Amino acid sequence: MIEINGNEGEGGGQIVRSSLALAAVTGQPVRLTNIRGGRQKPGLLRQHLAGVRAIQAVCSGDVDGDQLGSNELTLVPGKLSGGDHRFEVGSAGSAILVAQTILPVLLHADAPSTIEIGGGTHAAWAPPFDFFLRCYLPLLARMNANVEADIESHGFYPAGGGRVVLKVTPSTGIKGLTLTDRVGKLQPRVTALVSKIPTSVGERECDLIARKTGWDKKAFQVLDVPQAGGPGNVVMIELGFDNVRELIIGFGKIGVKAEQVARATLREARAHLASDAPVGVFLADQLLLPMGLAARNGHRSEFRTGPLSPHCQTHIEVLRRFLDVNIQSVTGENGSVDVSVEAGDGCIGSA
Ligand code: ATP
Repeated sequence: MIEINGNEGEGGGQIVRSSLALAAVTGQPVRLTNIRGGRQKPGLLRQHLAGVRAIQAVCSGDVDGDQLGSNELTLVPGKLSGGDHRFEVGSAGSAILVAQTILPVLLHADAPSTIEIGGGTHAAWAPPFDFFLRCYLPLLARMNANVEADIESHGFYPAGGGRVVLKVTPSTGIKGLTLTDRVGKLQPRVTALVSKIPTSVGERECDLIARKTGWDKKAFQVLDVPQAGGPGNVVMIELGFDNVRELIIGFGKIGVKAEQVARATLREARAHLASDAPVGVFLADQLLLPMGLAARNGHRSEFRTGPLSPHCQTHIEVLRRFLDVNIQSVTGENGSVDVSVEAGDGCIGSA
């Protein structure tokens, strides 16, 4: 049994999600202690618990400790199986994080899956649905992992009530990916979503970004999304290149002017563009696990990102506990970091 101390490194929810996914895919039982020990309110929150239940369902696992607030959890994984499943976070907690927890399992399952997940779709501190669809999944597809995603309703904080549907085809073998440069010209796309609040809020966000950037009017859209669990507003700046897309999100808040939200989001987008690293801090986090699985198949991956966040470093340590991988990072003069992920010495390629 692999023992994981959830207090190590960043001590957050990613340790739980990745440990469960890797335990299921590699068939190794895992015991987690001090779950989210680095957080103010430790233990399993709804979103993590939904992830635990989802993993249990897709790997026929035996689970102990799956209660709200639980600090300890054991998973003994069984057979990985596809099929139709429906999971509910039951709050505005991220449906996308639940999706990312089970994707590695479903990609290794014996049959295709259709998965419906209810919860937040544009939650803070989690990948927004649009990031998942437009930035993450296209890269997974290049790694020979094909997942379709659709949004049936949007779920904003605090109401939640969103719904996403995934169709997953088991992979014939996850391959490596190289993302060390941006290829082609910037193709920006700005989307403001509003739900149950005036459309003018989204228009003002787009107007400010259009004025400050001079980007073509066709790059902007305001979408009023009536199918949502509650009111909400986000503005998303997609920074597309031929080989990689990043998406920066800003969350509208009561008492904060639309222009202020747009300005802060644009500042973040410009900071990303100013660096020569094609992979942003969140994408770096999320690519590590599929790259680890590719390494298990004997395929090397490499990407350039900014300085590694404590979150990313913790994630690397979790991967090392489950997989025989060699993960190296080299910091360049300008602060960019080249990360490589490949099979470790004891690993025998199988694909
Ligand atoms: P905790 O409450 O313990 O922090 P958590 O499960 O909510 O746990 P993290 O462990 O911090 O969260 O993991 C959050 C995940 O969401 C990470 O994979 C991170 O890359 C991703 N993420 C956070 N914000 C964004 C964003 N704006 N865009 C894309 N991905 C994001």
